[in-house]
Amino acid sequence: AKDAGKNNYSIYRAAKSSLGIEQLTLESSIRKALQNNEFLLHYQPQIDVETGRIIGTEALIRWNHPTLGLISPAKFIPIAEETGLIVPIGEWVIRTACLQNMEWIAKGIPPMKVSVNLSTRQFLKRDLVETVQSILLETGLDPKYLELEITESMTMDVNFAIEVLGEFKKLGIPICIDDFGTGYSNLYYMKLFSIDRLKIDQSFIRDIMTDSIDADIVSTIIAMAYNLGIDVIAEGVETEEQLNYLKRLRCREVQGYYYYKPLPAEQLEQLLLSSR
Ligand code: C2E
Ligand code: CA
Ligand code: CA
Ligand code: CA
Repeated sequence: AKDAGKNNYSIYRAAKSSLGIEQLTLESSIRKALQNNEFLLHYQPQIDVETGRIIGTEALIRWNHPTLGLISPAKFIPIAEETGLIVPIGEWVIRTACLQNMEWIAKGIPPMKVSVNLSTRQFLKRDLVETVQSILLETGLDPKYLELEITESMTMDVNFAIEVLGEFKKLGIPICIDDFGTGYSNLYYMKLFSIDRLKIDQSFIRDIMTDSIDADIVSTIIAMAYNLGIDVIAEGVETEEQLNYLKRLRCREVQGYYYYKPLPAEQLEQLLLSSR
């Protein structure tokens, strides 16, 4: 039994060190990907459930690898975060989303918000506000058409969050709390941070028809958010039943495969131009 334990240990070590090599390779290819322009953004429409119209989009990064094809962010964002590469990647995302949004506005598409995901590492950088501000100046996008998505865990340091979010508020940049309901924050803090919108996590929407606890959580979030004057969007809406249930709870905005998957910019542009 002792030997077996030792064996397991060396297998574990081997697995760990090969993972280390894999990670190193991945790190250097992520670095190259940035230089070689291998990243791109897809945009997922956000819908007003009353009118069925597109009211905004969320920018979601993809990696178009020269041999492996499209790689999902779940595969490389964690390593980019760990290595700090998320900072230049994140800046690229903000700039690209702002430029794209400006291009759509210039083509006569009614102006709408583009939402960009921030990572923890990015959020904690002292110069984030300045970076965002200079990208807005450089691209000419009105700050109200760029929304930043953060998660509850980024607001753990309450004083820091109040300061940074206050600066974004002063600049007129809307803030959304992503994956809402999965962390520990309460709605009182959301008011304190002057959050504009909550995005209810897709895990609650997934089971909303079958899990009464999830249904109660969603119902409570929507009711309390509206009482506090905070908008709510539900993500991961895949079925008509989920949509109708959310409508009954007075949820006004949704995002999910029921309407659209994340789309390449050109495809979304065609859609927006044809439905103008
Ligand atoms: P997220 O911000 O929660 O984004 C929502 C994810 O759910 C997206 O996956 C989207 O494609 C997917 N989704 C949308 N509607 C549905 C639906 O109806 N059903 C299901 N099952 N899924 C749906 P994606 O694009 O693979 O992104 C995964 C995560 O990667 C994102 O989760 C976000 O945390 C991160 N991410 C994506 N782009 C960026 C980025 O530019 N910067 C940072 N820091 N993170 C990003
Ligand atoms: Ca998001
Ligand atoms: Ca989310
Ligand atoms: Ca559940």
